[in-house]
Amino acid sequence: MSEKNKNDKLEFIIFYYIASVFIVMYINWMLLPVLAKPVINTSTQEEFERHIDAGEVSVVEILKDNILYTVKDSNGNIKHYKTHYSDANELIGSLMEKNIEIGVVELNKSDFFLVLLITLVIPIIFVTYYGIKLKEKLNGNEGCAGETKDDDKVKDKDSRNKTTFCDVAGQEEAKESLIEIVDYLSYTEKYNEIGAVCPKGILLVGPPGTGKTLLGKAVAGEANVPFIPVSGSEFVEMYVGRGAKRVRDLFDKASKKAPCIIFIDEIDTVGKARGIGTGSNEEREQTLNQLLTEMDGFEENKGVVVLAATNRPEILDPALLRPGRFDRHVRVELPDVQGRVAILKVHAKKCKMEPDIDYSLIAKATAGASGAQLANIVNEGALRAVRMGRNFVSQSDLEESVEVVLAGEQKKNQILSPEEKKIVSYHEIGHALLAAVQIDSAPVHKITIIPRTSGSLGYTMQIEERDKTLINRSETINKIAMFCAGRAAEELVFGECTTGASNDIEQATKIARAMVTRYGMTDEFDMMAMETGRGNYLGGNSQVTCSPETAKEVDKAVLLIIKEAHLKAMKVLKENEQKLHELAEFLYQKETITGEQFMDILNKK
Ligand code: ADP
Ligand code: MG
Ligand code: ZN
Repeated sequence: MSEKNKNDKLEFIIFYYIASVFIVMYINWMLLPVLAKPVINTSTQEEFERHIDAGEVSVVEILKDNILYTVKDSNGNIKHYKTHYSDANELIGSLMEKNIEIGVVELNKSDFFLVLLITLVIPIIFVTYYGIKLKEKLNGNEGCAGETKDDDKVKDKDSRNKTTFCDVAGQEEAKESLIEIVDYLSYTEKYNEIGAVCPKGILLVGPPGTGKTLLGKAVAGEANVPFIPVSGSEFVEMYVGRGAKRVRDLFDKASKKAPCIIFIDEIDTVGKARGIGTGSNEEREQTLNQLLTEMDGFEENKGVVVLAATNRPEILDPALLRPGRFDRHVRVELPDVQGRVAILKVHAKKCKMEPDIDYSLIAKATAGASGAQLANIVNEGALRAVRMGRNFVSQSDLEESVEVVLAGEQKKNQILSPEEKKIVSYHEIGHALLAAVQIDSAPVHKITIIPRTSGSLGYTMQIEERDKTLINRSETINKIAMFCAGRAAEELVFGECTTGASNDIEQATKIARAMVTRYGMTDEFDMMAMETGRGNYLGGNSQVTCSPETAKEVDKAVLLIIKEAHLKAMKVLKENEQKLHELAEFLYQKETITGEQFMDILNKK
């Protein structure tokens, strides 16, 4: 802990105790006299006489119109009474007769323990309780750049259901890097001893929905150091100069709290390279400059680590990425099969699931899905279970929700005419048949011809047995052939083409173009790169880097590949025409068929 931080706390505690002492003194002054007032009961003359007769009266004090007397009953309890009594002389006589003392009544104080309780014990409990709370607050995480009361409330809510690394599945490398940071901040001496310097800035980069924000929150949950979360957009203000001030305030606050972690989510809002974009960027550039200065401003071993997340690393200002600033990049990529299984399980824990759910099947059917999509799949499954009036989420719920999330809801009111239904059946079976016949392609899990809200009329759910990192040329051609097969089947059977293949065409072209321009898979262009699409997680346009003449040639080469694949699809379908008819008829009748049913018919001799 830093010296300054310690002093701050000490000051606060001293102030707190002085205030407490004043409160206790005030209570004593104001309350004590009231409480200490003796209790005097009033009684009538008859009662007084009864007390006398019973021999309980010990002392009597004669005042002007009244008498004051003390009664000590058989149990030894002492009480004071006040009685109106006019004829004092007679009274004195009778008292002397009975040998009762006449003098000054010493009033006993009210209950000693009650006074003690109210003036001392309660204040002590009060002071200690708030003292403990205060200590917790001083030790705990607090504050953020917004600095409003609302923020504190949000934080309190967060800390109750804390996010930890257990909530982030399938991002082991990212977690490892971040655990190291948390460890460094917790045990700075260990690292200083060996001379290791902690990185100042860590950038989490990856496509949307892969858990970058979640990782940031998990670091907060794991760290036993203060954590200051801000969003990049918080710096972007209407008024010039405010953004820069916010950055300054943020780092001031952080250095007061060091060791601590700052987390800037969506840093691309402020970190965009200077000079990019239109209109007046002065404000943003000022903010960025301030950020750059602040990142340089603090020393490595001071214990402030800046964590940032973005899905557009390519537009960040290079100055922000140079060593000494955000020099460590942690990639948060789309999860692989095991990662997807793990993510599904993490989210399934929050729902009541049937015991024998096959998560790996769902994971295989969702190649390329992000963590956010998987979370959504589990949730959609749960919603479906409720709709169906069940208490548990079943396998079929999850399978249906995969289609809902990846292809949209079923369209209940869109009725296909029998003719259309027939075309869609052939189209979908065309895709599936090609996938199954080409050994390299993934087998299908499910085929449906129920229209979806996304606009697709059918859906073939594929299952990748494993994630492939390297894909060779013939596999790529096979993939394009599979996309072409829907249209090919229509042509083969009906001799006509429909509009139903638009998405297939788009996909096929994308792959074919990448083969030519990026993977160097044609003899014509050999290993020449004609497009750059480096590090673009949002799937935006890649840039063409060749001359217009070459671009023409590229288009020709792309077309050639697609034609090759289309021919291949046609050839395979022709070879299996009998099966095509059989399967399409079956799908037409059932509307939804499983992969097993499909394979049964295909393998039947
Ligand atoms: P982004 O990378 O765009 O910041 P988020 O962190 O906001 O993505 O993720 C959105 C949601 O998706 C999370 O709240 C979480 O429910 C889910 N999610 C994403 N990735 C994972 C993961 N690796 N493990 C568990 N849940 C995840
Ligand atoms: Mg995010
Ligand atoms: Zn299709």
